[in-house]
Amino acid sequence: MTTSNVADQTTLQDPTKQYPRPKFEEQSQEAPGLAKKMNPKPDHGEETYKGSGRLAGRKAIITGADSGIGRAVAIAFAREGADIVLNYLPSEEEDAKEVISLIEQAGRKAIPIAGDLSEEKFCNRLVEDAVHQLGGLDILVNVAGRQEAEEDISKLTTQQFEMTYKTNVFGLFWLCKAALAHLQAGATIVNTASIQAYQPSPTLLDYASTKAAIVAFTKGLAKQVASKGIRVNAVAPGPIWTPLQPSGGQPTEKLPEFGAKTPLGRPGQPAELAPIYVLLASQESSYVTGETYGVTGGNMLP
Ligand code: NAD
Ligand code: MG
Repeated sequence: MTTSNVADQTTLQDPTKQYPRPKFEEQSQEAPGLAKKMNPKPDHGEETYKGSGRLAGRKAIITGADSGIGRAVAIAFAREGADIVLNYLPSEEEDAKEVISLIEQAGRKAIPIAGDLSEEKFCNRLVEDAVHQLGGLDILVNVAGRQEAEEDISKLTTQQFEMTYKTNVFGLFWLCKAALAHLQAGATIVNTASIQAYQPSPTLLDYASTKAAIVAFTKGLAKQVASKGIRVNAVAPGPIWTPLQPSGGQPTEKLPEFGAKTPLGRPGQPAELAPIYVLLASQESSYVTGETYGVTGGNMLP
């Protein structure tokens, strides 16, 4: 495995040589997993992301903000000038603390509201508390998600199927519904789909189908709220180096080769996703709605 230059937004670099490439060390953690226990550690842009006021004064909710893609988005949003409510599960407090401190170092508000998005009551409370504490809401970024690989449909339990749908689809529905009661013209929603919506793995029946649902939901909702001046888009990542994968998202023996089959030959890092979320949340993407933006290392969306 090559350890590499840390990426930054401006230096010209060969993307196949940025960041660690397979093989990785075999590793596993209990779900939902912690970023700090991963080897190598994911890059969330801590050392590199430079803001330029693209979200100055915005008020945002980011789910899954403790680790992975959500953490990278939180760091970038704060450095672009946004105040942030962070949601994550109570067991992820350790990861969340690191993000809170990074947001505060950027001079922005970081308001942690831990809790389980598979419960409608909590989703409603999260939005209400966020609006109250931020003094309004301009951006909802749905990043939280659950992924548990299962080789055979005969072993895929109703409980797992339900929990994946509750977290990935119902939670997102409840949050969008509650947020839309507060969003004004110019506001944006950014959802997180996956390459799995288009190229499902045989081991991810529940997860892949939730991601296809998110793509369709994003398109329909975008049409529904366009006349109000509210935009809704999604990001569809390919294989990204985050705690989701070693905590049950992949069969353990597959992790060493994670990302090897992409044309760029490596998994993406959370830091490589953040600029797309910033773009879709900001006024710069004013004519973009209902789209799903792939960040896949070359495993293109159809
Ligand atoms: P991650 O583990 O860092 O983030 C997922 C987060 O989801 C967790 O941190 C946790 O806070 C949150 N979460 C899970 N269940 C929850 C629940 N019931 N209530 C509240 N929060 C809950 O991993 P990540 O890869 O950064 O995942 C972020 C998003 O990206 C997910 O939606 C995932 O499906 C999507 N995604 C990831 C990949 C990848 O390869 N890592 C690829 C495509 C899409
Ligand atoms: Mg986490």
